[in-house]
Amino acid sequence: MGYIAKIGLEMHCEVSETNTKVFSSARNSYSDIPNSNVRPVDMAFPGTLPVVNKEAVRMALMASMILNCKQPEYMYFERKNYYYPDLPKGFQLTQETKPIPVGIYGKVEFECDNEIKSVRVNNLHLEEDAASLDHYFSSSNIDYNRAGVPLLELVTEPDLHSANEAVAFLEHMRSVYQYAGISEADSKKGQIRCDVNVSIMDENLDEEDPKNWGTKIEIKNVNSFGGVRDAINYEIKRQTELKENGKYDEMEQQTRRWDEESGTTIYMRSKVDAIDYKYFVEPNIPKIKISKSWLEEIRKSIPEMALDRKKKYIEKYNLSDYDATVLVKEKNVSDYFEELVNNNIDVKVAANWVTVQVLGYINKHDISINDFYLKAEMLGTILKALGSKKISSKQAKELFFKAIEEEKDPKELLKSSDMTQITDEKEISDIVDKVMENNQSQIEEYKNGKTNLFDYFVGQVMKETRGKANPVITKKLISQYLEK
Ligand code: ADP
Ligand code: MG
Repeated sequence: MGYIAKIGLEMHCEVSETNTKVFSSARNSYSDIPNSNVRPVDMAFPGTLPVVNKEAVRMALMASMILNCKQPEYMYFERKNYYYPDLPKGFQLTQETKPIPVGIYGKVEFECDNEIKSVRVNNLHLEEDAASLDHYFSSSNIDYNRAGVPLLELVTEPDLHSANEAVAFLEHMRSVYQYAGISEADSKKGQIRCDVNVSIMDENLDEEDPKNWGTKIEIKNVNSFGGVRDAINYEIKRQTELKENGKYDEMEQQTRRWDEESGTTIYMRSKVDAIDYKYFVEPNIPKIKISKSWLEEIRKSIPEMALDRKKKYIEKYNLSDYDATVLVKEKNVSDYFEELVNNNIDVKVAANWVTVQVLGYINKHDISINDFYLKAEMLGTILKALGSKKISSKQAKELFFKAIEEEKDPKELLKSSDMTQITDEKEISDIVDKVMENNQSQIEEYKNGKTNLFDYFVGQVMKETRGKANPVITKKLISQYLEK
């Protein structure tokens, strides 16, 4: 008998685009000197009180709308009580499903392997991140810059069925957060972290009925999309083997962790050891009225999403579905492409250079486009020189790599280098005349049948111009000369 997997995700995404933290006025900034963005309230000093950041709530509500959730009339925050060195207050401010958090009962559609899939959203809630712990050989450092950074947690129903689907869903959500201007959503910076829930069930049973679902295994803190893929595949295999050995049904609900090094999930605790967090409503934050007019205002301000841009690229720019998909996948890549187009670079040329050269380079070097030396404006300079035939496409590629390697503006390189192509017919014609006059005996031989001397003439012109003569024009003019 076959089995199907049921997968539910708890996806955390740091809100990186607010100026300050979610309950304090400390800067929300990722890469500053450790412990430089800390206010007394982040450390729970006596007498300090949290102040809710309206911008964070606005972004959270916007995300809730994009996920087709229902928004609350009043918003509350709750204390989740536990102690850990990264949590100086002894509790995390978060939201429980009752009363309503920023969103409940939504639905998300996304593409996976050219099919539209849909996942129900159980809830979306706003909470604060903990500090970050950096472990060294004999000590650990705590950086409270992250303590109190706004965090959105999205909880799906177990509607996903494979590692592929789970990763496609996460990529879709990353794009939503980026396009909405909520977060950079960069998992390399630890801005996206997931708990993955996996069970398997007999494929003949009715999937709609939760009674038929298998025992949920939760895998904590998977920090990369690759990790999510591997953890799910490992877990499905492990659970299928338990089924086949008749041991699945006696298995308890448990929490495991993903161990990157061994590529396995490791037992942490069973459901009976679950922590009781003693939730209660945070008394220092009065309930916040969410007015209909504010919600309306937020809804109107939702920016263009990836799928809108993709549609525009296909319908208005006549790009292929494939190119459009590649271009919109990361917002910063799409912005880069649009900057070229707005800079009057031909759409097809821009699309081709971004998908092949730019993405090829940043993927090969595993960097983000923000860290890519050649800004859109600089690539624009190269493509304009190419468009006006000042340089050949081979030279454009050379210039592209030279600019990146030497970290020099192509504008300067163009000025100082020998790259600029000669395309002026008159100029080339003068050189052709001169070269041919100096090669009378070769012309004689050519006319007597040694036609491969044609390349020799081209070579002489190139030598004279140090390779700068446009080859098409050069060949044309030599032919004309020989036919005279
Ligand atoms: P808990 O009470 O343990 O937190 P929840 O019902 O809140 O469990 O679900 C937490 C996550 O587990 C959700 O993402 C949900 O979709 C997922 N989940 C629940 N049941 C299953 C199951 N049988 N198999 C896989 N995932 C599940
Ligand atoms: Mg839960």
